[in-house]
Amino acid sequence: MTKVKIPKEIKVGVYTYTIIFKPHLHADFGVYGRLEGTRLTIEIEPDMPDSIKGVTLLHELNHICENVFAVKLDEPSNDSMAHCVAELLFNNLNIEFDWSLIT
Ligand SMILES: [Zn+2]
Repeated sequence: MTKVKIPKEIKVGVYTYTIIFKPHLHADFGVYGRLEGTRLTIEIEPDMPDSIKGVTLLHELNHICENVFAVKLDEPSNDSMAHCVAELLFNNLNIEFDWSLIT
């Protein structure tokens, strides 16, 4: 298993996005992750298994790619793509996300 530290910031195109844990995101908004485009922030619900956090991060990154690269995915397609990339990373390349830098 190869651990990959999730960085505090991810740069896509000309924008740098900050990744943060947002407690109660699911209770308050019914989602596990959220892209705050105007604040350039990716919010992730911390209180869930790492596997769900990983797919959630991939989902939010898909939204960023939609914006930056002018791709359009509806929510079910975005989820499918996130699970597809997760399948490659987690189940085949044996990569595990390390969330220790995220606060
Ligand atoms: Zn979404």
